[in-house]
Amino acid sequence: MIKKIRPDRMVKAVEMIDLKQLKQSGIRALIIDIDNTLTPHHKDVISDSKLEWLKQAAAQGFLVYLLSNNQVNRIKSISSTYDLHGYGFAFKPFSVYYKKILKQSGCQPKEVCCIGDQLLTDILGAKLQGMASIYVEPISPRDIIFSRFSRWLEKRLMVKKGN
Ligand SMILES: [Mg+2]
Repeated sequence: MIKKIRPDRMVKAVEMIDLKQLKQSGIRALIIDIDNTLTPHHKDVISDSKLEWLKQAAAQGFLVYLLSNNQVNRIKSISSTYDLHGYGFAFKPFSVYYKKILKQSGCQPKEVCCIGDQLLTDILGAKLQGMASIYVEPISPRDIIFSRFSRWLEKRLMVKKGN
């Protein structure tokens, strides 16, 4: 279980991810979480530095998909504002939307990197599909109830692991 939630890499924020390095390692598509990864929780605005990074990703030819367990309407609004593909109610870590994105992108799982702030949804979901994964530190501490539970569980698992 611990192995399944251990990300390939951990960074402070999404804009610190080196896109050239990802490209060189064969990554073609990015699946990016929204809440606390791109936007503060309950806010719809992506900061300039994160937006610039997203633009760079598109300019370098990455296929970018936003994937969130949050409400569909919220995700639709954010993805249309920023002109990105986005799916809400994704039921991460379950496979449905990951498979959908694989089909849509024409990528193999090893060509996809998932980026998010939660081990039990974003990272576990990636691992279960054989995709690469990068953990980012959450933008803000405010969370929905499920996330609070999930973080509590993550902390317990980390303690067991001896971290
Ligand atoms: Mg999140």
